[in-house]
Amino acid sequence: MTSLSDLPLREDLRAEKAYGAPQLDVPVQLNTNENPYGPSEALVKALGEAVAETAGTLNRYPDRDALALRADLAAFLRAESGVALDASRVWAANGSNEIIQQIVQAFGGPGRSAMGFEPSYAMHPTISKVSNTRWIDAYRAEDFGLEAERAVAAVQEHRPDIVFLTSPNNPTGTSLDLAAIEAVLEVAPGMVVVDEAYGEFRRAGTPSALELLEGHPRLIVTRTMSKAFALAGARLGYLAADPAVLDALLLVRLPYHLSSVTQAVARTALSFRDELLGYVEQLRTERDAVVDWLRGEGLEVADSDANFVLFGEFADRDALWQRMLDRGVLIRAVGPPRWLRVSVGTPEEMAAFRAALQESLKETQ
Ligand code: PMP
Repeated sequence: MTSLSDLPLREDLRAEKAYGAPQLDVPVQLNTNENPYGPSEALVKALGEAVAETAGTLNRYPDRDALALRADLAAFLRAESGVALDASRVWAANGSNEIIQQIVQAFGGPGRSAMGFEPSYAMHPTISKVSNTRWIDAYRAEDFGLEAERAVAAVQEHRPDIVFLTSPNNPTGTSLDLAAIEAVLEVAPGMVVVDEAYGEFRRAGTPSALELLEGHPRLIVTRTMSKAFALAGARLGYLAADPAVLDALLLVRLPYHLSSVTQAVARTALSFRDELLGYVEQLRTERDAVVDWLRGEGLEVADSDANFVLFGEFADRDALWQRMLDRGVLIRAVGPPRWLRVSVGTPEEMAAFRAALQESLKETQ
């Protein structure tokens, strides 16, 4: 049997572990920040029709530049944020992970560096390292917040080619003030990426970093249809930026990277956006309820503007994670070592989570 160590793998990858949350078939899956609400019958029908229509053209390559989809995404962002955007400023790819990869390929690479504020989304460092981009860990405050002064000081010290700011942040749920993002833009020597994968869950009245695009050609705001749009299975991520940034990404993207099927599915989902985003309010309410409940149980809980909640602190979080799993509830052991993260599900799933956690915690005492 050949093993990985027998292969002429890149030296710098030899110590790496493959990334990924366990995909387990259990009754209550609250581990990857998915939207628990699947598509309605009407949407399923529309998706089927859109795919059937596309099927007849699959001998041809897709629209390489996904222009119609990008126009639809721009229209959504305009409606959601009030910021004037069109297809020339919006780019799409297979999940925002691919968007991040394209950004790092274009603006990072050998001899260059990228920085993020930990704890944050693990794929920022992972994609950077795989692209031979030196990763610089900067840190958040004790309460997982990120003040402008702290962020500016880290950027001035390390002068990274790419700064990742995640708002709301995963796995902590913490939102960033626009003032902090603006302060980083003032001093960053390279690109500033604001990852807004959970942007639609932010509290009413909280502005999106999209508002800073005008006048900041080195700002990129990334979004995804995987979370609020309940479309994780379709793999559609996107970004808004200056058109010159899109010219840079065209240099690194694979030709025809976004399949005709993906484009058709995403456009159909966007035409059902009121239905899909209709659950956001409910998920926010459920999130705030679980935060209150966890605090009532005497646990530490990070403030969350997203569709998940980070809570702790546990001497042996892996043991607690396992006890939850034994009760059919899959959560995530991620982020700071003594904390766990739960994605917000349906009221029934959250009731199962609360019951399992109470029992599991009793078992520990
Ligand atoms: N950014 C953040 C902060 C995330 O949490 C995730 C998914 N967990 C992604 C990006 C990537 O999501 P996707 O590739 O599904 O768009």
